Amino acid sequence: MPMKTDSVHPPELTQRIHAAPESATVRIADLAKTLRRQGEDVVDFSAGRAAEDTPKPICRTASDAMMNGDTHQTMAQGKPEYREAVAKKLKRENAIDADPETEIIATFGCKNGLTLSLLSILNPGDEVILEDPGFVSYAPTIQFFGGVPVPVPLRPENDHRWKEEELRAAITDRTKAILFCSPHNPTGVVHTPEELDVICRVAQENNLYVISDEIYERVVWGAHQHTCISTRPGMKAYSITLMGLTKTASMGGWRVGFTYAPAPVIRAMVTLQQHLATCVSSFTQMGAAHAFGEEPGTDLTNMWKEWERRCEYMTSELDSLPGVSCSMPEGGFYGWADIRQTGESSEALAERLLKEQHVAVVPGSAFGEQGAGFLRITCVKSDQELEKGVERLKRVIK
Ligand code: GLU
Repeated sequence: MPMKTDSVHPPELTQRIHAAPESATVRIADLAKTLRRQGEDVVDFSAGRAAEDTPKPICRTASDAMMNGDTHQTMAQGKPEYREAVAKKLKRENAIDADPETEIIATFGCKNGLTLSLLSILNPGDEVILEDPGFVSYAPTIQFFGGVPVPVPLRPENDHRWKEEELRAAITDRTKAILFCSPHNPTGVVHTPEELDVICRVAQENNLYVISDEIYERVVWGAHQHTCISTRPGMKAYSITLMGLTKTASMGGWRVGFTYAPAPVIRAMVTLQQHLATCVSSFTQMGAAHAFGEEPGTDLTNMWKEWERRCEYMTSELDSLPGVSCSMPEGGFYGWADIRQTGESSEALAERLLKEQHVAVVPGSAFGEQGAGFLRITCVKSDQELEKGVERLKRVIK
């Protein structure tokens, strides 16, 4: 048989990938990097990545571990040392008594915790309620596993909180879980215990898992306090808690975090991890054990203070732009700027900012329908970059 050399049609990719949008956060951050490599002076406020490098003591612990031969695969559930450090952190900072043997698994950041937990609890066609606006990767990830995302609006007029009646109205006999994030990406809301109890009531009455993404839990501002939903009365059995160090210890490149959940969920996640990735890399777990195992040192607490100041600076600058309103986030480090008064759509303005002034931001519409008319701006860049960005924003939003 002669080889076919003329028009070659490679076999089809999956429907799942045809249907998947790119991640707006990662795509725009990659685009900013590409433009920089081409010599453009880009100010990048897109993905949630702080200017600071990981504090050196954490790096030293990981590099010592590596130099001392900690270069082998670990248990699929994660190193016992890491899980014990996580249990200590949960007790000290979150009032949680977790069993490191059965209730904690090491994950590659929170995204891996999300994928393993969804794979553990979803059958095809099961529905997951999620926030609109919400993190860009939730809905596509649910769909990759045959689940159905059911967005419920966080209305600006309700201070970006769910209304209990709207949450209840979204429940069907296929609902399996509620997925939410607090401190919230992108709006900066930190749920009070009473606000969490809306979710708790709905979950308990309908026998639903609650997957709570708490990646920003160590950075809450002013008088706001983070409460883990799993600590609310009766919630331990329903809660799958995702945490990590990507944001709060500026360890995004390490890809390390953990999930705390009831033992049967963790057992399911371990089986999946055995097949899908074997384990989280060994020496990163040792660095992460250092970051979690001790009371946060001044290298972290000073960095968080600095971030609060930068969030204040950036959100008040945004708020002073004509047609823009932006308040200080309660937690996390995003400015969620309401640009509806400018009359321009979030995509159009984001595109103009990038084209005209090389400022990269994420259009709010990427986070869901309710995000239309908003821009998300990462505030934890260097002072110099923030000032440069503000100057350029002023040139575009007049
Ligand atoms: N989670 C971050 C964000 O919302 C980082 C980007 C990503 O991992 O998607 O910007």
